[in-house]
Amino acid sequence: MTHNTDRNFSLFERARAVIPGGVNSPVRAFKAVGGTPRFIGRAQGAYMWDANGTRYIDYIGSWGPMILGHGHPAVLEAVQKAAVDGLSFGAPTEREVELAEAILELMPSMDMVRLVSSGTEAGMSAIRLARGATGRSKILKFEGCYHGHADALLVKAGSGLATFGNATSAGVPPEVVQHTLVLEYNNVVQLEEAFALHGRDLACLMMEPIAGNMNFVRASTEFTRRCRELCTEYGALLVYDEVMTGFRVALGGAQSVYAQQIPGFAPDITVMGKVIGGGMPLAAFGGRREVMEQLAPLGAVYQAGTLSGNPVATACGLATLHEIRKPGFYEALASSTRALVSGLEAAAADEGVPFCADSEGGMFGFFLLPELPQNYAEVMRTDGQRFNRLFHGLLERGVYLAPALYEAGFVSAAHTQDDIAATVAAAREVFKTL
Ligand code: PMP
Repeated sequence: MTHNTDRNFSLFERARAVIPGGVNSPVRAFKAVGGTPRFIGRAQGAYMWDANGTRYIDYIGSWGPMILGHGHPAVLEAVQKAAVDGLSFGAPTEREVELAEAILELMPSMDMVRLVSSGTEAGMSAIRLARGATGRSKILKFEGCYHGHADALLVKAGSGLATFGNATSAGVPPEVVQHTLVLEYNNVVQLEEAFALHGRDLACLMMEPIAGNMNFVRASTEFTRRCRELCTEYGALLVYDEVMTGFRVALGGAQSVYAQQIPGFAPDITVMGKVIGGGMPLAAFGGRREVMEQLAPLGAVYQAGTLSGNPVATACGLATLHEIRKPGFYEALASSTRALVSGLEAAAADEGVPFCADSEGGMFGFFLLPELPQNYAEVMRTDGQRFNRLFHGLLERGVYLAPALYEAGFVSAAHTQDDIAATVAAAREVFKTL
């Protein structure tokens, strides 16, 4: 399409004049892959249409929330009804209680939960709570894990930051990150060394249990077990950032997957977002009662929000949770996702392209590498130019993947076998050209 008839291009020009980089969240800008971002006009089920009316099969799903696909009728009805009753009250509502009860029922490691408006806010608040509850300052995170853009957590984070090649963000004073330790993911030896040195000063260890911000990297069972044991031994809290994995990889989140491998396994605090809001701004953090009771107004750890527990967002979240609890939901979602992953693997093998992939529930990742990476440095071995050719080849064929090799992908309940088959066929064509 020539530029003068491409509405995406003209909208991007307009956007760049008034919004830094033309986008309200960096990775949307296509900076890593080049080209013009698609401006989305509408979406339905597994599809999105851009400003030119071109249709794409959507594997981003708003970066995770749209697990039912776009425009699910029961969710839309709940949102429309809630909007008529009031957009925001700044006072408690029954729906917040219902959503809290629903989350706690599905996530047994949490006795109490507080609702907020973004994953960043939830992660930042969880760190403050861990510090307040333990009286300690240091926190431990892993390279390639992203926990939102709070100052103390923007330390060698993955995803958008990795794309731009920054070790950290400007505007974060060194004093603010001096208490943040960053280790290699899946490295048990480093973990043990760090605890031996700093364990008694650690307020918490925060991690993505399946990392989705360095593409898709699972924590090994042994690494997960040692994280839990060392936190218990040294009195640090284990904080699971399930903003992406929560209600995405399984009904009980990634922690339920690890609990099958490690009997009795549970984190102390869980951070959630994305799916629990079903596409509206809603996130949460929760954990054991004695920890959560440290929060204001009960305790001394302050945390608040004008729009927290918003009545329209909670309606959207509740309607979404209602659907994903239906029997067979995750079995069907996981089977579609596995069909996509194995179809891509087979097509790549036929065309002689080094390729490997993994998935859990409705979340997947693939790499133009011969074997699955275990940490950020290994993810970085991917040939970026090759990924960019694959990305654009698929985009031209109507398949919309995340525009950076550091991102996980998402399948929704609305993706049909035909959608998956069309995606694999498109990928096969592109693999031939790589
Ligand atoms: N934690 C994880 C694991 C995430 O993937 C994200 C967002 N991609 C966040 C936290 C931050 O959430 P939000 O963008 O809602 O602030």
